[in-house]
Amino acid sequence: MAETPSLPFLPYGRQVIEDDDIAAVTEALRADYLTTGPRVAQFETAFAETVGARHAVACSNGTAALHLALMALDVGPDDVAIVPAITFAATANAARYQGAEVVFADVDPDTGLMTRQTLEAAMDRLQGRRLAAVLPVHLGGGIVDLPAVRRLADEAGAAVVEDACHALGTTMAFDNRPERAGDGRHSAMACFSFHPVKTLTTGEGGMITTNDEGLAGRMALLRSHGITREPGDFELRSMAFDPADGGANPWFYEMQNLGFNYRLPDLNCALGLSQLAKLDRFIATRRALTARYRTLLAPLTPLVRAVEPRPGSDPALHLFIVLIDFEAAGLTRKAAMDGLKARGIGTQVHYIPVPCQPYYRARYGEADLPGADGYYARCLSLPLFAGMELGDVERVVGALAEVLG
Ligand SMILES: *Cc1c(COP(=O)(O)O)cnc(C)c1O
Repeated sequence: MAETPSLPFLPYGRQVIEDDDIAAVTEALRADYLTTGPRVAQFETAFAETVGARHAVACSNGTAALHLALMALDVGPDDVAIVPAITFAATANAARYQGAEVVFADVDPDTGLMTRQTLEAAMDRLQGRRLAAVLPVHLGGGIVDLPAVRRLADEAGAAVVEDACHALGTTMAFDNRPERAGDGRHSAMACFSFHPVKTLTTGEGGMITTNDEGLAGRMALLRSHGITREPGDFELRSMAFDPADGGANPWFYEMQNLGFNYRLPDLNCALGLSQLAKLDRFIATRRALTARYRTLLAPLTPLVRAVEPRPGSDPALHLFIVLIDFEAAGLTRKAAMDGLKARGIGTQVHYIPVPCQPYYRARYGEADLPGADGYYARCLSLPLFAGMELGDVERVVGALAEVLG
């Protein structure tokens, strides 16, 4: 009897790289500039247009994007940033890089998102310190109530910086007005990541979008050592200009602020441009897969529940997160993950509450955030990426039903 060929392992997420992506990178490799070449500005312009923002600043990864945003706002050691407890560590770390302290907001146990109420509760824990920034995270592609967050932040004199790493391509809706995530209508800046598991990839890569020209200019300087080569901006005029003809000295540059090397190379931008042209297709696939998941998972409720999208919105989910009542199912999450893995299905947990991490626990002590705990106890991310087929969803749900008995 012939052996049944085993089905390919389905990771929880992965990139989709096609021949034209490879061709685009190969072409960039043959060009003159591997680091800051023409594709950087092209990628920024195309990205800004895609999300509907005036400016986009490319940088080396999503973590650098968050750091640049807080640097551009001058967030410093006397300041506090509010970050939801359920997110990737980088959201909170960005504030710590600037010496600011983090106050963790609780989340809605059923969505994992910061809410108006949990933000208000976090603001009650500022103990007189200045709130400089609030960093809502659109977890999985779900959408934080930005107008409510903005109102509270405005009252406190704080800026809103969206961690939109999961939200590329998402259509949000507040008061039934559709708009694109990252368009900057409700925040100072929005940060994106192009890590291979995200909606599109540049290998490593990140982007900040904003409608504020001043912030965009500051971030462009800070991502490249804080160095300017614009003669009009030079402060050291006698060093900068030739005494004979008054022209700018060709070697001259000025470092006016302490910046970093957070540039995104031309090579990566070549991949980004090629991937961006496929974004609509990637998103359509993610939406079709998500719809199939919802249909097939319906009979498993209330044991398994998919997080519901915000009414009127059309999320381009980065992760397909379900909440599972492991206690009622009579098995641990590890046993479920092991069972799925044995059936060729990869899953992940997004995320361990950040305040539990030893670094933050040592700094701030034990947190009392029941919403985050309730969410964390049940969440599991099932495979979702643009290279999947609808049949893969059937395989995942079938395996999940088997594992949960
Ligand atoms: C991926 C991610 C980041 C960090 O992005 P990198 O590109 O990996 O540095 C930050 N926040 C969230 C929510 C993310 O998912």
